[in-house]
This record gives sequence, structure tokens and C-alpha cells, in this order.
Amino acid sequence: MPSEGEEDYIPWIQQFCEAFAHDYFVPVAQEFIEDDFNLTGLSLQVPYYREALYTILDYQVDTADDNDASITNGGNRPVQNKAKSELPNKALLSHSADLLYGLIHARYITSKPGLTAMATKFERNEFGSCPRYYCDGMHLIPVGCTDIPGQETVRLYCPCCNDIYLPSSSRYLNIDGAFFGTTFPGLLVKMFPEIENQCRIRINKFNQNDFGLKLFGFRVNELSSSGPRMKWLRMHPKTQEEKQEYENCEFQVPDNDFDSEVEDTDGEGDLIDDDDKTMASDDE
Ligand SMILES: [Zn+2]
Repeated sequence: MPSEGEEDYIPWIQQFCEAFAHDYFVPVAQEFIEDDFNLTGLSLQVPYYREALYTILDYQVDTADDNDASITNGGNRPVQNKAKSELPNKALLSHSADLLYGLIHARYITSKPGLTAMATKFERNEFGSCPRYYCDGMHLIPVGCTDIPGQETVRLYCPCCNDIYLPSSSRYLNIDGAFFGTTFPGLLVKMFPEIENQCRIRINKFNQNDFGLKLFGFRVNELSSSGPRMKWLRMHPKTQEEKQEYENCEFQVPDNDFDSEVEDTDGEGDLIDDDDKTMASDDE
């Protein structure tokens, strides 16, 4: 435990969250870390797990760099009677503690208090805004491409265009994406329907005059080699029928027969017809 009487004492978690480029992190509640259930499986992923955990919780931990004179709080040490060779050095312990805290953080932000803390940061636009013009400054949400640490750095997810972006500042290129995880953004959007609402307003605002490539006023066919590729990724259901179909697809494979599939493409029919007229000479 932190020794009393030291007025300038800063808890480890606070130090971590205030460190350079750590401003995406929220402080994890001490109770959350002290509950063993929340840490299930982490001991296999983090070297010097016990020492790292004690570091995060501000217990006194022996390191290989310590000499006996520097240990003042000898009576209350959790790590005892270990040979010096078994102890981590300070750099190793610091790395393990960062890794462990990051993995706990990824779990914490999917719990209710964690989600609330992250939502507050989201509200304040602390993660930045979507660079896409049609997203109209939609706030971004940190996300990991994988839950395995050491694979990818943190990315930012835009709930409006459903795309992910690299953070605008290179300072975040050292932050592991697994410290935020793949689950968090979806959960945040579902827990706070206001976010989906903000997206809907933006989508409806821009749907009318959707930007598309044009040549002398004619739209370029989507199938053309210079056409707007992957446009379907940003398409949203508009009519009631499309919305129903979207809802059916979200949780199950729709059992439509072939005829109805042909009918469903009618939404795009006018666009294709348009292009057929303009490219009529090519088709014949
Ligand atoms: Zn966006």
C-alpha cells in the first residue's frame, strides 16, 4: 500500500494515464483490478505477472536493481525470499506493468464504469474527429484491430462511415491496439444510442446530394475501372424494405429465394439505367 505521509505521492495508475501519449486511457478503478475474476488468464500473457500487478497497485516490489539499503518498507513486502536472479530488472518490470495495465484496461472499458468514463472522453472529442468530409466532424472511438498485444497499434473508429483511421498524431503509434480491444467500440455505440442518433443525422443530411464521380455531368458507372470502388461499404439502408433486409442480415442469413434477391437490387436500378443510357454506345 502507499505509505502515508508522502504528500507528493502519485499512484502508479495516475502516472501511467498522465504519461506522454497516454491520453486515450482512462484510470481503471482499483476495485476492478483487485477482483481476481477480471484478471482471468492474464497471468499467462504477462511476464512477471505478480510483480507487475503489485506495481500497478502500488505495493512495494523488489527488483534486481534494488540494493538492500534502498528498501525501507521491509516488513510489508509481498515478494520475499526470492533469489536476485529471479527478479525482473526495473525496465522489464515497467514493461510488464504497462502490458498488464493495458490488457486490464481493454477489459475495464467494456464494463459499465469503464464505458461511462470512455463515453465522457468521447463526448469531449478527446479522441479526435473523422477526417472524412461527409462525416462532418463525427467524434472517433479508439479501437484495436486485434485483441492480441504486440500486433497492431491503436486505430480510431468512426461510427458514421464505419471506417477506421490512423490517429492524426504520430505520438500514438506506440500505443498497442489490444489495450482498447475489438469489442469496445461496438459496445459503446450500443450502450449510448445517442451516438447512432448523431450518425443518423449526418447520414440523412448528406444522403440527398451524395457525392459521386462525374464526367461532364454524367455519373461514372460503379463497375468502371475508374468508378467509385467499394462504395457499398458506406451505403446505408434507405427505404423501409432495405431497413428490414438489413435487420434480417444482422443476426442471420436471410432465407430469401433468388427472385426476391433480384427484386432487392431494384434500389440501384435507376443508377444503372442512367449509366446504360450514357454508355449506350459502348454496350452495342
Ligand atoms: Zn467517418
